[in-house]
Amino acid sequence: MNAPLKGGEFLIKDVDYNDVFIPEEFDEEQLMIAETCADFVETGIAPNFAALDNHQEGLMPALLKKAGEMGLLGISIPEEYEGFGQSFLTNMKANEAVGSAYSFSVAFMAHTGIGTLPLAYYGNDTQKEKYLADLATGKRLAAYCLTEPGAGSDANAGKTKAVLTEDGKHYILNGQKMWITNGGFADLLTVFAKIDNDRVLSAFLVEAHWEGITMNPEEHKMGIKGSSTRQIFFNDVKVPVENLLGRRGEGFRIALNILHIGRIKLGATVIGGMKRSINYSVTYANERKQFGSFLSAFGAIKHKMGEQVIKTFATESAVYRASKDVDNSIEALKAEGKTYGKANINGAAEFEPECALLKVYGSESLDYIVDEMVQIYGGMGFSSEAPADRSYRDSRINRIFEGTNEINRLIIVDSTMKKGLKHKIALFEAANALLENLDSIEEADSSSGEYFEMKHAQVKNLKKASILFLPVIQKAFGRKLMFEEEVLMNISDMMMNTYILESTLLRVEKIDKLGLKPDSSLYKDILDVLAQDVIRAVNKSGFDIIGSVAEGDEKAKLCTALNTLTKVAPVNVKESRRHVADKLIDEGRYNF
Ligand SMILES: Cc1cc2nc3c(=O)[nH]c(=O)nc-3n(C[C@H](O)[C@H](O)[C@H](O)COP(=O)(O)OP(=O)(O)OC[C@H]3O[C@@H](n4cnc5c(N)ncnc54)[C@H](O)[C@@H]3O)c2cc1C
Repeated sequence: MNAPLKGGEFLIKDVDYNDVFIPEEFDEEQLMIAETCADFVETGIAPNFAALDNHQEGLMPALLKKAGEMGLLGISIPEEYEGFGQSFLTNMKANEAVGSAYSFSVAFMAHTGIGTLPLAYYGNDTQKEKYLADLATGKRLAAYCLTEPGAGSDANAGKTKAVLTEDGKHYILNGQKMWITNGGFADLLTVFAKIDNDRVLSAFLVEAHWEGITMNPEEHKMGIKGSSTRQIFFNDVKVPVENLLGRRGEGFRIALNILHIGRIKLGATVIGGMKRSINYSVTYANERKQFGSFLSAFGAIKHKMGEQVIKTFATESAVYRASKDVDNSIEALKAEGKTYGKANINGAAEFEPECALLKVYGSESLDYIVDEMVQIYGGMGFSSEAPADRSYRDSRINRIFEGTNEINRLIIVDSTMKKGLKHKIALFEAANALLENLDSIEEADSSSGEYFEMKHAQVKNLKKASILFLPVIQKAFGRKLMFEEEVLMNISDMMMNTYILESTLLRVEKIDKLGLKPDSSLYKDILDVLAQDVIRAVNKSGFDIIGSVAEGDEKAKLCTALNTLTKVAPVNVKESRRHVADKLIDEGRYNF
């Protein structure tokens, strides 16, 4: 075992497959918890998908409370507050299982994540005693109120205000929040507001029945129609001072730290949606005949299904690798004596770049998968009678909430660069050394050598390509770098793609070396297709940067370096995708 990697450090260090967790290593208890969630979704939620979308009165809160009675709302909450005290990793696996439940999964995640975690991690003992067990068991339901009409991505721009009363016993809360998930029925709201003339937010625990709280009717949305989304108004609401969460002015930090967790959680949640969509796709393709053949016999359809599986497998590999890293980090912090809250917050915050990139990759992969699902269904994909309609509409929100994908792409680069600038990781040292020795860059030898050695050489070169341009853009733009978002998006995509490919490589290598699956060539096919696509995508991103930044001699040198680092010999992706699709077609469901 090597020393654990810090967040973002994957870009500059080699990683051994023995040092990562892969989904094949979930133990029986973890699988049993996930199975319980999956059973609950299939028996309790799936029959209600349409009723939920039609906003059947009281149905969503009733189903959430049912989940609470079964203990599913408290999986990660400590046992002293009537939770199950399960690990971060186990909780992620449970989230995947619930993630296939369309609108219900949004309500569930809002309650268990952004709704409950601010209290769980920042609440004092009195606050936790008053509310936490109720949230873990579903006696009370929760919502998170950050966004305002004028403060979306720029969350700290909120105008909601809290003024301390003269007797010092209450804050008087005034303002407006919008897009609040679970708003229509939540009992406990975590509300972000500025105290007096503070420039930063504070957080408050607000009971929804308190006088002065009103709301607009349900929003009419493109998708996740069953989830409650409201505007909430606070008019002279009296909030007892003891309901200030954390310290005065700590609200923005709380909001950000909870969002790191929300992002990796979203990465896990979308895997549930991916698998459900793939299962529907293959079932339809195996039943529908055209030109005398089942759709699943056509190469173009196999291509789509192969890609659906590859993206799901890659997302899974990366999400659970990162979840275990967060878990290990949490446990190490606890061992150092950090409290439950601090350990969880800092454990996830350490992996800020990874959390952001998982959100982006996961949400965009789900969008790809549901889009191809509609296509596989043909005309029926466009009909509300078939499930492709709901899958397609419900997927789209994932690129918008928990920080839009643009904001998350900026976070990937920004948080990684900050780690480098603060010398938490030797990022710029590695990048500068690379730039000074451009002539000694070598291509990954794809014509000889052991299979996994070659793949590691490819990934190592992608890491170099991902960091190579950091000093270049710093020099070119200096303090104005933050205004050069197009270039930052390119770098972000390079980093994201590299992490996804490396995670998939390490999983496939572990499967192969430990003999965890009967047909390891299948997993090499997944890796081959992904590697070719990722390497070419990284080349494109780098190419865009060079054209936007460099001139003359430097341009030529960077081009040569990039092309050397991203050189890849064509593989037979047609046969590889077919191999993957054929397993799916034979088994009729995602089982990889
Ligand atoms: C269904 C739904 C449920 C939600 N649930 C909740 C909830 O429970 N609680 C809560 O507090 N909020 C919630 N939200 C709000 C959500 O988090 C915000 O919608 C999101 O953060 C984006 O803010 P915005 O809508 O104001 O878009 P804007 O911030 O106005 O962004 C519009 C576009 O501009 C881009 N953009 C903005 N700033 C930049 C920048 N600096 N650089 C590049 N591009 C930029 C964005 O990426 C986006 O593409 C929910 C939203 C929806 C739609």
